[in-house]
Amino acid sequence: MKIGILGGGQLGRMLIQEALKYDDDFYTLDPAPDAPCHHISHFTHGDFNDYETVLNFGRGKDVVTIEIEHVNAEALATLEEEGVKVVPNASIIKTIQQKILQKEFYKAHEIPSPAFEILQTGSEEVSFALPFVQKMNTGGYDGKGVQVIRSSEDLKNLWKAPSVIENLVDIDTELSVIVAKNDLGETRTFPVTEMVADPKLNLLDFNICPVHLTEDAENQIREITEKFLAAVNSPGLFAIELFLDKNGKVWVNETAPRLHNSGHQSQEGNANSQFEQMYRVVKNLPLADTDYHGFSGMLNLVGAEGFSGKVLYEGMDEVMKLPQTYIHLYGKTETKPGRKMGHINVLGSSREDVLEKLIRIKEMVIVKA
Ligand code: ADP
Repeated sequence: MKIGILGGGQLGRMLIQEALKYDDDFYTLDPAPDAPCHHISHFTHGDFNDYETVLNFGRGKDVVTIEIEHVNAEALATLEEEGVKVVPNASIIKTIQQKILQKEFYKAHEIPSPAFEILQTGSEEVSFALPFVQKMNTGGYDGKGVQVIRSSEDLKNLWKAPSVIENLVDIDTELSVIVAKNDLGETRTFPVTEMVADPKLNLLDFNICPVHLTEDAENQIREITEKFLAAVNSPGLFAIELFLDKNGKVWVNETAPRLHNSGHQSQEGNANSQFEQMYRVVKNLPLADTDYHGFSGMLNLVGAEGFSGKVLYEGMDEVMKLPQTYIHLYGKTETKPGRKMGHINVLGSSREDVLEKLIRIKEMVIVKA
C-alpha cells in the first residue's frame, strides 16, 4: 500500500520505523528539507498547509494520514471526494484544529471539559469569572497560544483574536489516554499515563505509565473515552489530554488527532506501541492489545539552553550501560534550546523506581552542540 503522511517529523519517523516490518511504501511531506523522515521514506519537500501541495501529494496514495494537525484540511476533504482514504478524516481534523469547534464538540457530546465562552475578537466586554485561561482558536502548540488571565488588570492583555476562554482548573495531575478506532468501529484504549511538564519549557518532560487512580477517577476516564469514541465519526488514533483536579474530577483539556508524545513509553512498556496501533488504524486492520508489562516511563531529550548547531549527545554511553533503558533519537542534526531531539524510555518495578531512573538519566545526558 502507498501510505502518505503529512508531516515528516519524529512521530512519522517512529510510525514508519515500526511499520517497516510489514510491506508498505511510505511517502512523507514536510517543509524542512532535512526532516526526520527524509531518509527513510519517499520524501516530498513542501508545505502541508498549502492546498495544491497537499492535493498533489495525496493523489495516487491509497491512504493519507497526518503526524501533525496543522495541515490543509480543505485539501484533505477534496482528496476524500476524489476517493483517497484519509485517516483521521478531514472533518475531525478540522474540528480539532479549531479550539472553538473542539470545545463545542465536547459540549455537544457531554464530554466534561472546562466551562467556556467564545471570543470572536478579544475586544468584546468579558464578564467570565476570573481567573480564566485564554486559548487561541488556531495555531497553538506546546503551550504557545495559551495564557492565564488572573485579574481585571490582566484583561487588557487579552489577545485580540478569535479564542476560547475557559475556567482555570486547579490541577492535581495532567493525564493522557490514547484511544484508537478503526473503520470497522473496533476500539482500543491504552493505559492512562501521567504527564509531568518542565515548568520552564512548557514541554512534556516525563511521562509515567500506568497511573494509580481512584476507582472513581478511573470510571470518569472510562466514561470520557467511551463517549469520545462513540462521538468521533472517524477512524484514527487520538490522544486525549486530561486534567485531574484537586477535587478528584477529571476534565478533558484537549485532544490530538494523532500520535502523541505522551505515548512514547508504549514502545517498550506495552504489548504494542501507539505506532503499531496507528499503523493498524491506517490500514483498517484488527487493533492491537495495549496492556502494559509493568511500570514504564519516558524522558524527552531536548536541546540544552545555550547550545545551537550540530548536535552532540553527552552522557549517552553511560545511559547505554543501564538495564531496561531504551534510547530513541529522531535524526535531527541541528539542536537548539528546547528542541525535541529524542527520548529515552525506561522500565521499572514501581512508579518511584521509574521516576528515580528518569531523574538520574536526566542528570546524565546533555544535548549540546
Ligand atoms: P497546547 O496545545 O499548546 O499544549 P494546552 O491547551 O495543552 O496547550 O495548554 C498548555 C498547558 O496549559 C496545559 O498543559 C496546562 O498545564 C495549562 N492549561 C491549559 N488549560 C488550562 C485550564 N483550563 N486550567 C488550568 N491549566 C490549563
